Amino acid sequence: MQEFTVAEVAKHNVPKDLWCIIDGNVYNLTDFADAHPGSAVVLHKIAGKDATSEFYSFHRQEVLKKYARLVIGKTAVLQKYPLPPPASFSKVPYAETLATLTKPSPFYNQSHLAFKRAIRAFCEENIAPDAESFAKLGKIPTRETLLAMGETNIHACRLGPGPHLKGRTLLGGVLPEDFDYFHEAIAHEEIARAAGIYCYAEGLASGMMIGAPPVLKFGPAWMKEKVIPSILSGEKMICLAISEPGAGSDVAGISCEAIKTPDGKHFIVNGTKKWITNGTFSHYFTTAVKGTAGISMLLIERSDGVETEAIKTSGTGSAGTAYVTFTNVKVPVENLIGKEGQGFAVIMANFNHERWGMVASACSAARFIVEECFKWATQRKVFGKSLVEQPVIRYKLGQMIADLEAVQSWYEAITYQMTKLDYKQQTQQLAGPIALLKYRCTRMTHLVSDNAVQIFGGRAITATGMGRHIEQFQRTNKFGAILGGAEEVLLDLGVRQSMKVYPKDARL
Ligand SMILES: Cc1cc2nc3c(=O)[nH]c(=O)nc-3n(C[C@H](O)[C@H](O)[C@H](O)COP(=O)(O)OP(=O)(O)OC[C@H]3O[C@@H](n4cnc5c(N)ncnc54)[C@H](O)[C@@H]3O)c2cc1C
Repeated sequence: MQEFTVAEVAKHNVPKDLWCIIDGNVYNLTDFADAHPGSAVVLHKIAGKDATSEFYSFHRQEVLKKYARLVIGKTAVLQKYPLPPPASFSKVPYAETLATLTKPSPFYNQSHLAFKRAIRAFCEENIAPDAESFAKLGKIPTRETLLAMGETNIHACRLGPGPHLKGRTLLGGVLPEDFDYFHEAIAHEEIARAAGIYCYAEGLASGMMIGAPPVLKFGPAWMKEKVIPSILSGEKMICLAISEPGAGSDVAGISCEAIKTPDGKHFIVNGTKKWITNGTFSHYFTTAVKGTAGISMLLIERSDGVETEAIKTSGTGSAGTAYVTFTNVKVPVENLIGKEGQGFAVIMANFNHERWGMVASACSAARFIVEECFKWATQRKVFGKSLVEQPVIRYKLGQMIADLEAVQSWYEAITYQMTKLDYKQQTQQLAGPIALLKYRCTRMTHLVSDNAVQIFGGRAITATGMGRHIEQFQRTNKFGAILGGAEEVLLDLGVRQSMKVYPKDARL
């Protein structure tokens, strides 16, 4: 690359001949100036100068990547802010979990680190490039992306350890028998980091993460053999259909009915389901129904009488959130997941994994926001100094970090317990703690979002530019406080679960 002196660059200081230096590189902006979103006038002011500081006051580092074609040479000045290499771990304090093994951890080992590195590389290559534009346009992920996640067994990894991993080659060279819930958590974390929680990430088969476990844990053998491989390969999509217009928190209040035909061979299903994630593009619906025996779970295939209509949320259409209508849908009795009339237990058991996975994603998304805030507070100058030099801003950062790390620690402790308990024991022993954990987590994301908005100012409520990730987070983080059990309901559940084991002889 040609080298210029600072004096040479300084000669190109008029609109018709406009060069500048950004972090050691020389840019010719003459033809670009009129297309500059912030106006040409701004660029005229930095013509012939070193504009590194001005650039970082208004732009994200990745903008340099986008406009690499405008670089015409370099100066002898050493680059201060090189772009991080692909799939690297951030060096910003608190931007990464202990899974990066920067400090000793009782939970993570080299296998987790290798998995994290490999899945981050996958996400950077296959997911991040679509994340923002697809979310903006409300487009669901391409078939190629979903298949690529299948080929690399990422869909399978999001269902935790178990026989479904047998014989599969996992990212990072992790052996299926070594795969544990910490690996699974890392998969959720990396997808949330690359794709934005409750945004594009929701489209990446998050319905599968909640719709497939009932089939895996309670489905008959034929169902597992037929349905699971096509789902884990990314060929087919599945979702969880429990909520209805008249029954959200009150699951027992569902009214979607399944009546057995006189020959006892089929159910006829009639009813509606609301807010079903991935419902618009799912092939299978793991559905809660009510019949004479009580609540049951049925696997319903997209067929005659199944209609899905998109619901517009404050997230993105990429999630495929659906209003589902079942009209006289004929479902074979073999499609029962678990026993007839025992669906409530299936639903409750399934909630634990869903809620725990939501915490994994939310911690990762909050961590990314902390990183964004740290960077912004360091590079944004106000009243003659960087934001982070203001004690009030350091207080806000400190609050965010302290809350995040507290939730992270509890979630890792529960994850460890999951590695030691079987599915039934998890259901019995962890439903209460996971419910309380999810509540604590969404209070944390609330604080992180609130503080991040104050740190970023106007940019936090601007959908493009420096603060766009904050804008998305503050718009969508409340999803976690409602989905999979609203905060109030979870606190109540957490305490009720403890009361079940409250010692009868305990007295003050
Ligand atoms: C974007 C999105 C995606 C979703 N994805 C799915 C999905 O894939 N599958 C699925 O089955 N469902 C899904 N849901 C539904 C979700 O689980 C419900 O919205 C949630 O359970 C709350 O139900 P509700 O909205 O009907 O609120 P309601 O039950 O009407 O409750 C309203 C509010 O009242 C409060 N409340 C309720 N009961 C009590 C109580 N006993 N004590 C105190 N306060 C109480 C809570 O704060 C609650 O937020 C999704 C929802 C959304 C918005």
